[in-house]
Amino acid sequence: MSNPILPVDKKTQDSLNFMPYQAFLNTEYWHELRKIYYEHNPRKCFVCRSKNNLHLHHFNYDSRGKESFNDIVCLCKSCHFALHGNQRDSHGFVFTGIENLQDLKDKISIAEHARSMLDNKTYMMLLPFAKEGFCTVNQAREFWDIPKTKTIKLLQQSADLQIVTLRPSLKIKPESFFINRFIWHLIEFNFPKIN
Ligand SMILES: [Zn+2]
Ligand SMILES: [Zn+2]
Repeated sequence: MSNPILPVDKKTQDSLNFMPYQAFLNTEYWHELRKIYYEHNPRKCFVCRSKNNLHLHHFNYDSRGKESFNDIVCLCKSCHFALHGNQRDSHGFVFTGIENLQDLKDKISIAEHARSMLDNKTYMMLLPFAKEGFCTVNQAREFWDIPKTKTIKLLQQSADLQIVTLRPSLKIKPESFFINRFIWHLIEFNFPKIN
């Protein structure tokens, strides 16, 4: 358990926790908390170090009213959007990809590892699916026009790097793959953008 950044009484805490998020963002509590947060943390995106369009992201909305420094993180608009963009996959399932600060740090180190393993060619081959967030082997095979075994191997290599993650809990056929878009967003910093 971590200490609250800005301790308040239980009644205030409950009221902050239950009010609509938009109302919460307008409270004096939140304004004060932001101020304290930036007194102790750099005013830049935790992921890409940008100093523009900064937001504070809540890992867990239940922490509202009793946030510790581990419950929130400073992200630029673009990284924030990429993180939230991960939350709903192409089937409409909610994907809570980043749980806490440690999880975010882990995802960043996976991306750094992946970046060091991926050459530009492999990156470009996987790019369309990173944008989609989901593909089947058949979709991938049709796109690349290469034999099924080669396609599976390529996707499997990505799975080993956790760029493509399998979702066993959703009972999706083993030949379906998800690409973690947030990790992809991190990888993209070092690769050319193709539109
Ligand atoms: Zn950023
Ligand atoms: Zn957020």
